[in-house]
Amino acid sequence: MTKPSIYGLTFDQLTDWLVEHGEKKFRAQQVWDWLYKKRIKDFSEMRNVNKDCRALLDNHFDIQTLEVHSKQESRDGTMKFLFRLKDGNLIETVLMKFSYGLSVCVTTQVGCNIGCSFCASGLLKKSRDLTSGEIVEQIMNVQHALDERENEERVSHIVVMGIGEPFDNFGNLMDFLHVVNNDKGLAIGARHITVSTSGIINKIYEFADQDLQVNLALSLHAPNNELRTKIMKINKGQPIEPLMKAVDYYLEKTNRRITFEYIMLKGINDSRETAQQLADLIKDKKRLSYVNLIPYNPVDEHIQYEQSEKNSILAFYDTLKKNGIQCGIRHEQGSDIDAACGQLRSKQIKKDKEKAKV
Ligand code: SAH
Ligand code: SF4
Repeated sequence: MTKPSIYGLTFDQLTDWLVEHGEKKFRAQQVWDWLYKKRIKDFSEMRNVNKDCRALLDNHFDIQTLEVHSKQESRDGTMKFLFRLKDGNLIETVLMKFSYGLSVCVTTQVGCNIGCSFCASGLLKKSRDLTSGEIVEQIMNVQHALDERENEERVSHIVVMGIGEPFDNFGNLMDFLHVVNNDKGLAIGARHITVSTSGIINKIYEFADQDLQVNLALSLHAPNNELRTKIMKINKGQPIEPLMKAVDYYLEKTNRRITFEYIMLKGINDSRETAQQLADLIKDKKRLSYVNLIPYNPVDEHIQYEQSEKNSILAFYDTLKKNGIQCGIRHEQGSDIDAACGQLRSKQIKKDKEKAKV
């Protein structure tokens, strides 16, 4: 029988579990020090935890449920990990180097059911949610790889923008956020963490009501229903008007800035008129809005889309700026190693299938 990952437990959950199993409360901090500060890879290395407690943990939990399948490093410092889960599924995680620190992009599901028309992850239906432990372990594996270089580099930022829709795995997402944010462990500041959603309306309300200062990004990609439904089928059941109401609730409740993500697709959503429509849509919340213009990363299977011309992106940006909308153009990272979400995984699955044929 497979054991759950020890990394899936929040500090309070671990404390309760230890107490229920006859251990003292303070053990939780000892265990977390070994996991997150000394970052050992085996329970036997937890030297100040007595033998019985180590055996108890070992009997009930795994400390490594992810196995590195492959690792690619790009010239700009981007690292891409492909992990094999205990059940054989593959997931991917990316480490990006920025001037402000090291940011890890994590996956939350195996596949994705939202099925956006431009995305490599949505090509494969969701086969299951990741556990909170499997999400935390992605960060730990990246941190372990950094530890091996012995130059004290630390993961400082997290973006939940890998494969999957995080709000479709809400409970595990929340446990993950509590684990990585907790001062007793990795202590990654909530303001350094961003969760991206395709726009699951009721979960935006629920997210706003959490007492976590984590940033929210919304994959908008189009300013009207006709266009948005064409490229994101989720918009059919969850259209722009109620979505913007949820955004208003979020902004009012948290007073934190929201990021609107906007993939630039040539000839589809990148005209000056569309930019004006977008500005009109969000102008009432411009104090707390930021639009991130994202160059489309071509996906082999989605040949209907092309990257917008540089000039169109600049003109779009210019129109937003003229309307007083805060915005920026995302710089591409690791384009030489398929760093766009879902691409490495879908290529590996294709390769495996081809191998299976011969
Ligand atoms: N499911 C969530 C989070 C994962 S996708 C969401 O959709 O927000 C993270 C971001 O990558 C989203 O903004 C998504 O629209 C974008 N994305 C997907 N495919 C892309 C591609 N081929 N090129 C550029 N961005 C892409
Ligand atoms: Fe899923 Fe996000 Fe890809 Fe859409 S863009 S298919 S929601 S991972």
